Amino acid sequence: MTDVEAIPDAVATQALEMEAGGIDPRWKINGWTGEFRDPDRERAYLEKNQHAIARQMTVALAVWAALVLVFLLADLESLIDSAGFWVSTVIRLSMVAALVFFAWKIKRRPMLATQARWISALEVIGMTAFLAVYLFRPEVSHWAFTLTLIMLVTTFVYIPNRIPAILAVTSYMGVSTVVILYHVDSLVPSQLVSISIVTLMPIGLGWGTAARTQVLQRTQFALWQQAQEVNARLSREVEQRSRLQAELVHQATTDALTGLNNRRQYESLFQHELNRSLRTGQPLTLCIIDLDHFKQINDTWGHAVGDEVLKRVGQLCRDSFRATDILGRLGGEEFVALLPETDLPSALMVAQRFVDKLAAITVSEEVPQLRVTATVGVAQRDNENHLDPLLQRADKALYAGKNAGRNQVVTG
Ligand code: GH3
Ligand code: MG
Ligand code: MG
Repeated sequence: MTDVEAIPDAVATQALEMEAGGIDPRWKINGWTGEFRDPDRERAYLEKNQHAIARQMTVALAVWAALVLVFLLADLESLIDSAGFWVSTVIRLSMVAALVFFAWKIKRRPMLATQARWISALEVIGMTAFLAVYLFRPEVSHWAFTLTLIMLVTTFVYIPNRIPAILAVTSYMGVSTVVILYHVDSLVPSQLVSISIVTLMPIGLGWGTAARTQVLQRTQFALWQQAQEVNARLSREVEQRSRLQAELVHQATTDALTGLNNRRQYESLFQHELNRSLRTGQPLTLCIIDLDHFKQINDTWGHAVGDEVLKRVGQLCRDSFRATDILGRLGGEEFVALLPETDLPSALMVAQRFVDKLAAITVSEEVPQLRVTATVGVAQRDNENHLDPLLQRADKALYAGKNAGRNQVVTG
């Protein structure tokens, strides 16, 4: 199968794939964790979005650090004289330092913001420090509980992390809070149940919201990637089609054996040159080249050798004439050359040079001793505004050359 035949098949296959649609398993998203099921896809998503995630993380860390400082100031008056003030201040300032340090690390390596273990560790440390409030200041435990609930939702919604990790961290916080309250406030079982339910609510709410957001973000990413893939496929298709078109144009205008212009093409190019010559008054000369006793070559050495000779002669034509001369294969073992802006004496010189060179070269690798000659008929445009009379005159000259013994250049 040639390339030209293969292309429509490839295009049809792609079209079918696109039509089939359906969910590509590579893009399936787990609704509970909000992550791609395919780990490679998930990694690609995180890599692509690491800067956005890092930015969101930096903002979250800054707000977190600011809140710790605000609470430090808020507690200043009530705690300043107490023994726990310095302990809590040291803990809080250490926390702020850890948050700033992590933000600085993320700035240098944004991918860190996508790794659950670091942010989870920081969250556990922060929450543990917060739990101390229940133990050391039981008088504000209701107030602390409200903050705990807000903290649980915030952990899901504003601090980028993997949902399973957030679930683990918030469960730790929720269970610890309930256990501490149970002991500190001496809760009765019904109160314990209520507090547990109230604690579970922000966890459920946060989980649902975070999972939804993650799924939406990944869906957007999947669509973007799919659009990229389709674009790439379309570009490939356009490229294939242009190549196919170029190939078809080549096939339609070129003689397959020699690579010279085929009849249709050189006739149109000749007409163009004739019109130009009529307009400018510049000379225009035509040569018809016919190989001598070519039938004998075929008969003696076979058609394959004959073809090889024709190819070699085509190449010699290209080498002997100027790039602006138009060369074509007239058919069989006849070639034609149209020389724009060339008068008869110059054309005769070029043709003679070609004939001499042909007689001297090896035209077939298989039969090195084989020598081929050609007879050339030459005619210059003489007020004709049509090609046929010019061709006829060149042909007549060629005929005369054949009769005069071949291997020569003749003009009419
Ligand atoms: P002359 O010197 O009078 O031109 O004699 P000739 O044998 O060259 O001329 P003739 O027109 O009698 O024969 C031309 C031969 O060219 C006949 C045909 O077998 C051969 N021929 C035509 N086209 C091809 C081709 O594509 N490949 C090969 N190998 N031979 C071809
Ligand atoms: Mg012939
Ligand atoms: Mg011939």
